[in-house]
Amino acid sequence: MRDTEFYKELLGLRDPWRVTKVELDSAAGRVDVWIEDRSGVQWSCPECSKQASVYDHSEERVWRHLNTCQFGTYIHARLPRVRCPEHGVRQVSAPWAEHGSRFTMLYEDWVIDILKECDVTGANHLTGTSWYEAWSVMEKAVERGLSRKEKRIPDYLGIDEKSFAKRHRYETVVCDLKRGTVECVLEDRKQTSLEGYYGQFSKEELKGIKAIAMDMWDPYIAATRARVPGAEEKIVFDRFHVTRYVTDAVDKVRRQEHKILMAKGEECLKGTKHLWLMNEEHIPEWRKEEFDDIRKIKLKTGRAWAIKESLRHFWEYRYPKNAEKYFKRWYFWATHSRLKPMIKAAKTLKSHLSNILTYFKHRITNSVTEGLNSKIQTIKQMACGFRNREHYRKAILFHCGGLDLYARVLSKTGSSLDTTIFSMAHAKV
Ligand SMILES: [Zn+2]
Repeated sequence: MRDTEFYKELLGLRDPWRVTKVELDSAAGRVDVWIEDRSGVQWSCPECSKQASVYDHSEERVWRHLNTCQFGTYIHARLPRVRCPEHGVRQVSAPWAEHGSRFTMLYEDWVIDILKECDVTGANHLTGTSWYEAWSVMEKAVERGLSRKEKRIPDYLGIDEKSFAKRHRYETVVCDLKRGTVECVLEDRKQTSLEGYYGQFSKEELKGIKAIAMDMWDPYIAATRARVPGAEEKIVFDRFHVTRYVTDAVDKVRRQEHKILMAKGEECLKGTKHLWLMNEEHIPEWRKEEFDDIRKIKLKTGRAWAIKESLRHFWEYRYPKNAEKYFKRWYFWATHSRLKPMIKAAKTLKSHLSNILTYFKHRITNSVTEGLNSKIQTIKQMACGFRNREHYRKAILFHCGGLDLYARVLSKTGSSLDTTIFSMAHAKV
């Protein structure tokens, strides 16, 4: 088999395309393949798909393709241009690459697979592309994914803030709780940030939202109340965030008490911080005795801890009415504890109680969002903090957006239509 035939088979080329020349440069470690189209072929105008004959050919262009063994492989072609009666002279697009790309689609898809596994710098080391080239593959993949994405609002939303770079800058991450994907990343954590997201949808579409998990963050609450019909029944304050309020209060009590005890030369609370923050069953075996002993001393911290632990039973109720009854008893205990941080936390929870009780109807939490958050944290570390906000946002959508990122056209069954670079698009033989 001749080399041109061999490459025609390898690339899966079909009439009217053929390989006319193959050059191997062992020293440079590359294979160059020239492709030409057969004359006398009718092509479609890329604007209107009307049939037209070749007008001329554009300048030769080169596309990076997947390696042949260990050699970088490059495809050369002069693409035909047609003269459409309506649109004038137009270049036929190459079926193996997207318009304007220097890579074949299969090569881009390979870079996408690598980008999914490592950061942009890692991808350009492995593929030999520049940082900018690898980044632009990622950026294009996200744009492609977004353009293919169906415009619909998820039934169950999760809204969470994420710190960006240093100095208390924030992003708002909107998640689809059912799919476990990031819907979008909004600038800042203001009311206007979230209203901007809701604003893309009609009132009718927003009505379709079943529930929204969020932190007790006033701007998010206000945005949701302003835009989402029936918001009062749909907002669910995340139970882990609610618990954190109480846990933080326990820590405050411990800090204050520890300070007073140390002044008297008593060190019993030293090194115990994490024990008080844990759930009882998570306390490691080797510290259980120590923990039981401290609890026997009548400490304020011990009382605060007991209040925190008892709130955990609240979440076990099946019916909101029973949960509410339990909360009332807990609230009475907490507010009569004479522990200021606990009283303050209990009052915060009470003022938000109606949207804490919605949990018993919808049973959603932001734990999906929290999971995505740790993924986002990794993305941030991979890119040294992403000083560029737009890059950060795109990287999140690339890794967590659940988007169809690939350049290849997939069949309805999800498999690639063709494992070769070539399809018969635009050509009528
Ligand atoms: Zn046309």
